[in-house]
This record gives sequence, C-alpha cells and structure tokens, in this order.
Amino acid sequence: MSESAKCIFCKIVRGDIPAVKVREDEATLVFMDIQPASPGHALVIPKTHAADLYEIAETDLNIVTATVQRAARAMRQALAPDGIRIVQTNGAAAGQTVFHYHVHLIPMREGQKLGTHGRAPADTEDLKALAARIREAWEG
Ligand code: 5GP
Ligand code: ZN
Repeated sequence: MSESAKCIFCKIVRGDIPAVKVREDEATLVFMDIQPASPGHALVIPKTHAADLYEIAETDLNIVTATVQRAARAMRQALAPDGIRIVQTNGAAAGQTVFHYHVHLIPMREGQKLGTHGRAPADTEDLKALAARIREAWEG
C-alpha cells in the first residue's frame, strides 16, 4: 500500500473520511484540528502527500506558507486572539503524530500555557461554528 493510501490526511483530502474544512484551493486544505489545543486550532496541509519538511517539494512548501499567512489573517480577524502560535513538527521526537506535512495555527490568549496537542476531541458542531467564522473573515 502506498504512503498516501494509508495516510489519514490524504484520506481527508480525498473525502474518504470527514473533516471540518475551513477552505481549500487546488493545492492546499485548511481544516479544524479534531483535538484542539485551543478553540480555533486549525491545520494547513498540502494536498500532495509529503511526510514532513524534509520531503515536501519547495513549490508545495511555498504554497502552503502562503495559505498559512491567509489563514492566520482570517483567524486573527475572526477570533481576535492575542496571538497565533504556528507549529510544524518533524519526526516523532518533535511531537509529530501524523506523517503528512502540516502546519498548526493555534490561537493564543495572553498568559495561556498550552502545548501543541489538545487533551480531548472537540464537539463537531463547535468546530463547524469556528470554521465558519474563519471562512467568513477569509472570504470577506
Ligand atoms: P502532529 O502531532 O503530527 O504535529 O499533529 C497532528 C494533529 O492532527 C494533531 O493535533 C491531531 O489532533 C490532529 N489529527 C489527528 N487525526 C486527525 C483527524 O482525523 N482529523 C483531524 N481534523 N485532525 C486530526
Ligand atoms: Zn498524506
């Protein structure tokens, strides 16, 4: 079986498993983290499978980075966090648990002490409401 066939984020890209999507274009997908570190925690991925920063093609990396900037601007406008933490993990020792390149956007509040991973799965309706707010800010 190919890497992409068994990869959970490739399954989301193909629509084989559900995800609460914020926005997508030809090359990237933005969706809500199922186990958010804070409300609004979103992930940006390339649609083409690459395990990590070492593997991703430079063109995809640049496109993902541009999407991260747009997502961060929309998140700031929609949720008005005090800051947004951007995290990208490479290798299990760095905390990577899904081996398809992804960038975390974690809205932060002043004084908050958070890791990259949440402790419990979020309610799907809550994720949908947050995704809609970010999408509306994005699309103006
Ligand atoms: P990593 O630990 O690799 O840096 O981040 C992987 C992230 O993907 C975690 O924050 C985890 O909660 C999230 N995640 C894992 N499986 C799924 C899934 O099936 N759907 C969604 N939306 N997020 C997932
Ligand atoms: Zn994949």
